[in-house]
Amino acid sequence: MTQQSPPPPALGCRSSPVLKQRGQREVFCGLTGIIWLHRKIQDAFFLVVGSRTCAHLLQSAAGVMIFAEPRFGTAILEESDLAGLNDAHSELDRTVAQLLERRPDIRQLFLVGSCPSEVIKLDLARAAERLTQVHAPKVRVLDYSGSGIETTFTQGEDACLAAMVPVLPATEARELVVVGALPDVVEDQMLGLLDALGIGPVHVLPARSADSDLAVGPNTVFALAQPFLGDTHAALERRGARHLPAPFPFGEEGTTVWLAAIAQEFGVTPDRFAEVTDAPRRRARQAIAQAAAPLADKSVFFFPDSQLEIPLARFLTRECGMLALEVGSPYIHDALHGPDLDLLAQGPQISEGQDVDLQLDRCRAARPDLTVCGLGLANPLEAEGLSTKWAIELVFTPVHFYEQAGDLASLFARPLRRKSILGVAAE
Ligand code: SF4
Repeated sequence: MTQQSPPPPALGCRSSPVLKQRGQREVFCGLTGIIWLHRKIQDAFFLVVGSRTCAHLLQSAAGVMIFAEPRFGTAILEESDLAGLNDAHSELDRTVAQLLERRPDIRQLFLVGSCPSEVIKLDLARAAERLTQVHAPKVRVLDYSGSGIETTFTQGEDACLAAMVPVLPATEARELVVVGALPDVVEDQMLGLLDALGIGPVHVLPARSADSDLAVGPNTVFALAQPFLGDTHAALERRGARHLPAPFPFGEEGTTVWLAAIAQEFGVTPDRFAEVTDAPRRRARQAIAQAAAPLADKSVFFFPDSQLEIPLARFLTRECGMLALEVGSPYIHDALHGPDLDLLAQGPQISEGQDVDLQLDRCRAARPDLTVCGLGLANPLEAEGLSTKWAIELVFTPVHFYEQAGDLASLFARPLRRKSILGVAAE
C-alpha cells in the first residue's frame, strides 16, 4: 500500500545491542505534562499535591493566564503536613470542596502526586475514590503521579491517560481510538485524513471533554500518536483493546506508514489510500527537502529525555540525510518502538536510561554536529561549541503528520543554521 523511499534497511536496530546505564539523570518531572494537558482537556482541573517547588515549576513553565482562570493549581504541603502533624486527607477534602464550589465548570479533577506527596506516602488513589463518591456524578476525580522520582517529563501524560482508561465506559463497537494529546489543529488534520479514508468511528484519548462518547472494549483498536504511552498501552490492552503497531507519525514516511497500518485494519483499498495521501505526501516531501538542506550529512546525538528520540532518529536519518551517532531513550518498549527501530539502519549506539557523566563523555568524544538534549545540558554543551536542540521543544511544538513535517525538519535545522551564521559573522 505504501511505497517507501528510501526502502526499509536490510538490518534495522530492533535487534541491536542496547547500552543500559543507570546513574545521575538530567530530566524534567512529569508535572510538565499538565502544561499541554490542561489546554487539551477543556473541562479538567489538575490539582498538584506538592511543594512550593512544584508550584513554581508549573507557574514558570505554564505562565499565568490573564484572561481566564487557570485549570491547574497546587495544594501545597506545608512542613507540618510533611512531618505528619496534620491530617492531609481532610485538608485535601476541604481544598477540593472549595475549588469545586468556586469552579462549577470543572467536570474532571486530577489529583496529581509529586515527590513530596510520594515521600510521605499520601494515598491519592484513596483520596480520589473518596472524593468521587462525594462529588459524583458531576465531577469525576482521578489520580496519577507526576513525580520526578525515577520518571521523565512525558510520563506525566502517560500516567494521566492510563488513569482515565479504567473508568471509560465499555463498548462492543468496532472503533478506532487514537491515543495521545495533540494540538487541536493537528488532531483535526489527522481526523480529516482518517475521515477521507473512510475510517470510523474514530475517537481520541484524551477527549476534549468528559461528555465525549469515548468508550473501550474488545472490538476497539487503537493507534498511538505519541511514543511515550507505555502504561496507557498496557491499560488499554487490559480492557481488551488491540494495538495497531506502526512507526510514529513524524515526517512523510512515519505518517504514511502509520496511516497505512490503520487503513489496512479497516480494509481501505490501495487506490483510495493513494487518492487521499498522494498530495499531502508530496507537499510534506517538498517541505522537508526545503527545510532539511542544512541537515544533510550532519551527525546527531540524542540524550534520553522526551522518549521521542527513536522515531525522531528514524525521521532525521531517513528523511533528512543525517547520521545518528547515539540514540538514547529513557525507556525502550518493543511493542511501541519496535517498528521505528526496524526502519532505523544499524549503526548508531542505542542506549536506554542514563548515567549522564558517562554519556557526556561519549558525546564530547563524538563531537556531533547536533545534540538533542534537555535544558540542563544544552547551555553547557553550547559553551563547549556543540549545537543543541532542546528536546522539550519537540513536545510543545506541533510536529505530527504531513503538514508539520517541514516544521519538524526546521526545528533541527535552526541551530545548525544559527551556528553557521554566527560563524560567518565572527570571521
Ligand atoms: S514533582 Fe518533584 S521534581 Fe517535580 S517539581 Fe515537584 S519536587 Fe520537583
